[in-house]
Amino acid sequence: MYYDDDTIIFLNGKWIYAREAKTGLYKQSFHYGNGVFEGIRAYATHEGHCKILKAREHFERLQYSAEQMYMDLPYSVDEMVQWAYALLAKNNLQDAYIRPLVFTEENMGLQPENKTNLFMCAWNWGQYFSDLGVNLVTSEFTRPDPRSCRVEAKVTGHYTNSILALNAAKKQGYDEALLLDQEGFVAEASGANFFFQKGDVIFTAPRGNILPGITRSIVFDLCRENGYTLRETRFKPEDVYDADGAFLTGTAAEISAVSSLDGIAFKRLWKDTFGYRLQQQFMHYVRAA
Ligand code: PMP
Repeated sequence: MYYDDDTIIFLNGKWIYAREAKTGLYKQSFHYGNGVFEGIRAYATHEGHCKILKAREHFERLQYSAEQMYMDLPYSVDEMVQWAYALLAKNNLQDAYIRPLVFTEENMGLQPENKTNLFMCAWNWGQYFSDLGVNLVTSEFTRPDPRSCRVEAKVTGHYTNSILALNAAKKQGYDEALLLDQEGFVAEASGANFFFQKGDVIFTAPRGNILPGITRSIVFDLCRENGYTLRETRFKPEDVYDADGAFLTGTAAEISAVSSLDGIAFKRLWKDTFGYRLQQQFMHYVRAA
């Protein structure tokens, strides 16, 4: 699914075949989970070009994440954006998912390594969630405490939390987990931000216990353009049960409808919610030149 015999990847300034790429078993990132990465989407525009959605913002966040984890990433945003476009061209990709990953060298200690590696690959990736609507369950796992990690950095090790929450949700028969913060307020899903609508107001969790998504900020812009009232505020699962509708946002998730939380279905049909209108506008926006 991710690569075949012809796939080309980027590694430390070089273009190589994915099938020939190698990495070592002694890398610090592999043992201790301190890699940093991004998930980025590219879309074929209505005019037939390829556009990487919010390319600069993603590479700026990669730089931020690296800095937070004491990793040296000696490349400019411009350089990395150019490499991402070259990667798509070399692999004849347009509608694609791009994955940059920064990982450290061989080191069994916990100190930073002088040399880091930048790996970038891309593949064709369709819709992450089905159109039918996601059934969410409040997770038994909480989001990592901001006092014990850099929550706003996209660190590989943080995703063990997402893996636990998602798999526990699936085992219970749900599609996705909704994770709370340390004080019992809703934070986000395992790999996406959460929004819900009540009447004329859209609510989402504030920064502090979430990865503040780039898609989340596009939704903020679209709400402003539509004149929708958006509130970043703390809330509990009980506040969501009588919502009119809800949705998830993320690079992979795009804008995906949520049908229910903890087995309780939302009041309105998806098509009658602000979320649906935002989804339509978002899908147009990502393909606009
Ligand atoms: N929260 C988490 C935990 C995520 O992994 C993601 C995906 N990167 C998001 C939110 C959404 O972020 P973005 O819109 O930048 O993809």
